[in-house]
Amino acid sequence: MPDLAAQRPTWAEINLDNLIHNFRVTRAAVGGGVAIMPAVKADAYGHGAVECARALESAGADWFGVALPEEGFTLRQAGITRPILCLAGFWEGQEESIIAHRLTPVVFRLDGLDRLNQAARNAGCNVDYHLKIDTGMGRLGVQCSELETFLDDTVRFESLRLDGVMTHLASADNSDQSLFTEQQINLFESAVEAVQSKIQSKGHRPRWIHSASSAGALAYPRARGNLVRPGGVLYGLWRDVISPSTEPLGWRPVMSLRTRIVLVKTVQAGTPLGYGGTFVTAHESRIATIAIGYEDGLRRELSNRGQVIVRGLPAPIVGRVSMDLTLIDVSDVVAASVNDEVVIIGSQGERQITAEEVAAQIGTISYEVTCGISDRVPRVYL
Ligand SMILES: *Cc1c(COP(=O)(O)O)cnc(C)c1O
Repeated sequence: MPDLAAQRPTWAEINLDNLIHNFRVTRAAVGGGVAIMPAVKADAYGHGAVECARALESAGADWFGVALPEEGFTLRQAGITRPILCLAGFWEGQEESIIAHRLTPVVFRLDGLDRLNQAARNAGCNVDYHLKIDTGMGRLGVQCSELETFLDDTVRFESLRLDGVMTHLASADNSDQSLFTEQQINLFESAVEAVQSKIQSKGHRPRWIHSASSAGALAYPRARGNLVRPGGVLYGLWRDVISPSTEPLGWRPVMSLRTRIVLVKTVQAGTPLGYGGTFVTAHESRIATIAIGYEDGLRRELSNRGQVIVRGLPAPIVGRVSMDLTLIDVSDVVAASVNDEVVIIGSQGERQITAEEVAAQIGTISYEVTCGISDRVPRVYL
């Protein structure tokens, strides 16, 4: 049990052994010759980027993927040494820090390259970048139709080296859209050829070719290139991440979310509970108050809908989830008492609640659930 003696006993347990297990089975599945870039953006999907990256680095991760350069600075300050790719590019003014922290930016705009080139020249060094191609995601990337012109314009950036080419698949988790995905992969392969023939004259070939996140890496071997960028499956999130036609690899959940009972009471039939009295007891009930609310990331949509586990048994959430407190009905958990551990996500005894299940209940995906566990909830690393 974590020592939370002097704090509210609401915590997220992060099982780093399961993270490493997930990394290993994923690496075995994508095969030798393919490097792995765990996505640790968004504080490792709420799991804690520094701790997760440290564990993954010692397990052999080749790269790390962050969204913002700021996330990369944090990893460098924590002593992470593997290459770090800034997946969502960078903002004006961040060029110097990117170079100082040895981050590799993704680039998709000429003005970005121009600024990076100036910063590299000022720093007296050569800087690697990865070029992003938009093959159908429609979000970031140079459009295929503009690639030739774009490449012609990059020749003048003498302090930069195009060391990777990448794209992002929009629907790799959906086998109904496999034609679209195949088309994205085809477009990407042509783009890679165009890049190679164009910059070969500069005596260099991009070393890294990548397009696959979790779903793509598993369902489309051709999309692996020599580097894959899994996020979700490493955190044991897969039921709403990979294609249903992909065989799951025994990934284990990494995060569990736990709290304790603050108060238990017996109330009469007809008692309204919580804000607005949206739940009214049908019969005499035992109601427990638990120390977690929507500020912690227990989503308000779970009001009168969600379920938790107490003493290995299910207990429904009753009334509205409020900011710091929530009510559960423990009428069927005979011995439930103050201080009992309550599992919101995770397992206890034989019973388990996954982040995917919670997500489905509120109409979102598991990533939004784990990313949404707020900073107020301490992470306890196992
Ligand atoms: C987040 C992200 C990934 C990882 O996606 P998962 O679905 O978590 O595997 C890969 N590539 C890019 C560009 C991303 O932004």
